[in-house]
Amino acid sequence: MKITITELFTDFCVIGGGIAVVCAAISAARNGLRVVLVQNRSVLGGNSSSEIKMHIVGADRHGTRPGARETGLLEEFRLEDACRNPGRTFALWDILLYEKVKSEPNILLLLDSECHGCTLAEADGNTRITSVNVTRSVTEDEFRIHASLFADCSGDGRLGAEAGAEFRMGREAQSEFGESLAPRDADQLTLGNSILFTARNADHPQPFVAPNWARKFRKEDFKFRPIVGYEYGYWWSEWGGRLNTIKDFDLFRHECLQIALGVWDYVKNSGDHPGSANYVLDWIGAIPGKRESRRFLGPHVLAQQEVMSGATFDDQVAYGGWWVDLHPPEGMDAVDEEPCVQIDFPALFGIPLRSLYSRNVGNLFFAGRNVSATHVAFASTRVMGTCAVMGQAIGTAAACFLRDGKKTIAESATPLNILAIQQALLRDDAFLLGVRNEDPEDLARRACCTASSEESGCGASLVLSGITRELNESWGPWSRCEPNHWSSQSLPAWLDVELPESAAIAQIHVTFDSGLQRELILTPSDSISAKSIRGPQPELVKDYNIYLDQTLAVSVSGNYLRKRVHTLENPISASRVRIEVLATQGVSNARIFEVRLYSKH
Ligand SMILES: Cc1cc2nc3c(=O)[nH]c(=O)nc-3n(C[C@H](O)[C@H](O)[C@H](O)COP(=O)(O)OP(=O)(O)OC[C@H]3O[C@@H](n4cnc5c(N)ncnc54)[C@H](O)[C@@H]3O)c2cc1C
Repeated sequence: MKITITELFTDFCVIGGGIAVVCAAISAARNGLRVVLVQNRSVLGGNSSSEIKMHIVGADRHGTRPGARETGLLEEFRLEDACRNPGRTFALWDILLYEKVKSEPNILLLLDSECHGCTLAEADGNTRITSVNVTRSVTEDEFRIHASLFADCSGDGRLGAEAGAEFRMGREAQSEFGESLAPRDADQLTLGNSILFTARNADHPQPFVAPNWARKFRKEDFKFRPIVGYEYGYWWSEWGGRLNTIKDFDLFRHECLQIALGVWDYVKNSGDHPGSANYVLDWIGAIPGKRESRRFLGPHVLAQQEVMSGATFDDQVAYGGWWVDLHPPEGMDAVDEEPCVQIDFPALFGIPLRSLYSRNVGNLFFAGRNVSATHVAFASTRVMGTCAVMGQAIGTAAACFLRDGKKTIAESATPLNILAIQQALLRDDAFLLGVRNEDPEDLARRACCTASSEESGCGASLVLSGITRELNESWGPWSRCEPNHWSSQSLPAWLDVELPESAAIAQIHVTFDSGLQRELILTPSDSISAKSIRGPQPELVKDYNIYLDQTLAVSVSGNYLRKRVHTLENPISASRVRIEVLATQGVSNARIFEVRLYSKH
């Protein structure tokens, strides 16, 4: 049979299926690029999908660093998921991500499609990817996808490896980056892999007979691995960090399955957990979740001191804050060791763009767990909240650089372009350490604000502070503990943004309070979920009108999102924009972090 190759031409081709790639693709598409997204499995979400069911955490450390939650695209997804998926079904999370990607007219989504090679070109001493080779077996199709820019967000880094992008695997020696938490000598060891499972209370006894090939565990094996709750097991059932995460897949998949079944056998049949009697296993993963594979090398390698000292960078485009979360490579076999050591540090840290592109393949970005960080720094950056903000950052950077038309990402990463990327990220509701709205196109920056009422310290003018959350002094020297939002005293309420003179208004951006101080997470764990509100967040403005001078331009009911952008097909000339808040999703006052006004779409 002769298979013909379909040639596709696009601006930005992104490989992977996890949260990093979803954010990269959507941010690039919303910023005007044509995107092809290539994912080798049938659903999006990577480790957060229904295939693996890992819950997304990030800089707010399960809500213990209140207010540090990632905003931008991930917040949009989380808020929508909380409303549309109160029952915590992971398949609905898959569908939400699918819908988000499919509804972008600029994205071509190729599911079940494996990237397995690429074509390179050499010019002026630079290596560039010109196209990638993709196979979709289900339709017996081959694609060659030509693009100006590429991103490898595949976790394992197949595209980067095929292109010859430099990478590391395993742990660096202490001496290489002066990292106190690194081993004395470099090695090839990584964090391990896990197969998770879920169970539900069936209200009557549920026997479990383990297959005879399941592992046998004894009480001593759980000395440092407490079995807390039966509905979601167990992130610490980890194994395989001494193997190669790519080549030894079959071996650790089988072992992880033996371990998962063996742990459940222990729970059900050891007699130590009588509370599990009515629990029945309702899902067990078929694909092991991988924690660590290749880490590519960019012009900058993020290291322990930068993470732990809360470093900021001129070219920062993302941030992190999860603990440095190191695990013994032996996983469950290290019975006398804690399954993880989470090393604390007070500040948030910046992630430079130089850690998100290859130092030797000129047009290759990466985001997710494969970015340019040492093993120790990766132990913090790897969590999916951080992967998401890195993804959004490279999508935005790709859009900026494509317009620039330079040969390599490094050439495009000029201070002026970095400023433009940072401002575009803030406009799209991302958060960057110590960077505030200075968008010259935003008309509201020259405006004055008044309101029907103000709570003490939360005056109307704060919607122009340029910062869209409350900061905490512990986050770093750039962080001031001052309110950044307007609060009314009661409802209904209005906020007026008065421009110095009339201007054509084509777009109105409003950022509401979505309760960043509270953890918001989709998780199978009942106890973790109990801290979240699975529904609209009560601080959010629900019903509102926007008037341009006397004209009612926008009327919204039932809002449950933090950032709303209202585009007027026909711009209206006005000198005053009034936001009239009629109702919230629960609280008794209106809370707005930012208003932006643009003359152009
Ligand atoms: C057991 C476990 C527990 C964890 N605990 C947490 C936690 O509590 N919270 C948290 O936030 N993070 C946690 N992590 C870390 C986190 O899940 C990963 O770091 C994160 O998923 C990395 O995201 P990613 O998008 O880079 O890659 P992944 O989520 O791994 O996604 C990569 C995607 O790329 C696709 N792909 C791979 N190769 C190709 C190819 N050649 N062509 C096309 N597509 C390809 C894959 O199918 C996959 O969909 C945990 C990880 C594991 C394994």
